[in-house]
Amino acid sequence: MNLDFPCSALEFIPGRVKLPDLSDSHTAEAPMTAPDQNVKRKTQDVSSPRLRFAPSPTGITHLGNLRTALFNWLYARQQGGQFILRIEDTDQERRVPGAVERLMDDMRWLGLDWDEGPDVGGPVGPYVQSERLAHYREGAARLLESGAAYYCDCTPQRLARLREEQLARGEMPRYDRHCRARGLGPGPGRVIRFKTPLEGRTTVTDLVRGESTFDNRQLSDPVIMKSDGFPTYHLANVIDDHLMGITHVLRGDEWLSSLPLHVLLYAAFGWQPPIFVHLPLIVDMHGRKLKKRPEELPDVTAEYLAYARLFRVETLRERGYLPEAVLNYLALLGWNPGTEQELFTPQELIAAFRLERISPAPAKFDADRLNWFNRQHLARLDEAALLARGRPFLQAAYDDPRLEDDGWTAALIAAAREEITTLGDLPAATAWAFHDPVQLDDEAWQALRSDPAAPVLAAFREALPEAGRLTLEEANDLLRGLMRRFRKAHGWSGRQVLFPLRAALTGTVHGPHMAAIVALLDAETMRRRLDRALP
Ligand code: GLU
Repeated sequence: MNLDFPCSALEFIPGRVKLPDLSDSHTAEAPMTAPDQNVKRKTQDVSSPRLRFAPSPTGITHLGNLRTALFNWLYARQQGGQFILRIEDTDQERRVPGAVERLMDDMRWLGLDWDEGPDVGGPVGPYVQSERLAHYREGAARLLESGAAYYCDCTPQRLARLREEQLARGEMPRYDRHCRARGLGPGPGRVIRFKTPLEGRTTVTDLVRGESTFDNRQLSDPVIMKSDGFPTYHLANVIDDHLMGITHVLRGDEWLSSLPLHVLLYAAFGWQPPIFVHLPLIVDMHGRKLKKRPEELPDVTAEYLAYARLFRVETLRERGYLPEAVLNYLALLGWNPGTEQELFTPQELIAAFRLERISPAPAKFDADRLNWFNRQHLARLDEAALLARGRPFLQAAYDDPRLEDDGWTAALIAAAREEITTLGDLPAATAWAFHDPVQLDDEAWQALRSDPAAPVLAAFREALPEAGRLTLEEANDLLRGLMRRFRKAHGWSGRQVLFPLRAALTGTVHGPHMAAIVALLDAETMRRRLDRALP
């Protein structure tokens, strides 16, 4: 049997970390022959770190996925290493068409670029697990041959019965190793299981959490190769991380409990495991794990749904959150720089990121804080960037030729920027520019019933040009002139003068600078609105 993996391409990567292949490994000692072994990670040569993001695409990208991708990316970029995208799609039942493309699109949106992956290829491809089955079959064959794995023909019915009996006895359900010593060969419907040690303990190391020791009796013999010829996550993950030369594995903490098994698999192959860091759980405002599909929760409230949906990248993109704000927020979900700094550009994050500062404590998803970051990053955008990013949101809401005019649109967005949290708020914040006010709010009514209303509106109407728009400067001069005149004549304050005008032009007394409003609307529109407000 040929036990060499087909990885000849690995030899052609000059200057990179030496990528291992199966043939360089000595024959593994089966773990059950060394019951007291402590399998520890040895210090590796990490001069050229290789990190990977290994999602199982299900069609919904949530912030937890992207946080994992981000931390791997940050470290790879900082260290001048490689960031690899690997698609873990061996669970055929969970495959969703188009999910990989969507995920890649979400990563690109956030600015997380990868050096090797399904679309760009690379020296250790393919980067999609369903295209790497030969590797897993060879790996399983190798474990079978060294006695570290065995065939099992237990039927689902038997396993279900076993489970019931164990539960009835108050025991943790686990496989009873029925086939471990039966010496079965391959056959239809048979799976391959990994032999875990019957006693002893396994010590694992997480860079942030330190060492933990697991009692091997807690493990059962997990399936590593299913009867459909597909590997389970554990086998495929370990083989790929090894073959792809991964030096650091940063992943969600739900995988921490699999670490002893992974470490035992590395030992069975005779490979050195990578460095592991398990990223803290992201929890909701009640401290519960955030679900991808919150609508499936029983008794979910509308308020909770609105909050939990923000955890989906799709929602954030639709609402016009800035990717740099999301990136900044995500970086601080489970990591901190050890300084007071909160606002970071991607480049600043790359420079500041330290694995040691990843926290093991759960991180709370706080929508208010995300909004705060978005407002901060919006404020940092110059007018041209704001125009480029904001205009599509306006065009999606309004079919208006003025939106092709760069100057007008930039001025409109600039006028609204203080009032918005996300770019998706732009259509509502600028509605006054597109529709004559149909409804006036209470404060607007009050302003229009005040004494200054009639004379101010008449004087303003009088001062308007026949047609066209005023410049911002002209608008400012006009308004200042009005305020001066009415203060002198009646002692009215600026507010008393401007409120009715604002009410007539926009339907509310709140909003952007009055001069900006006057400069953005044309004279005919303003005249029409004035006439309607005071018939
Ligand atoms: N496919 C796994 C996931 O989607 C990857 C876990 C790992 O990074 O090892 O979470």
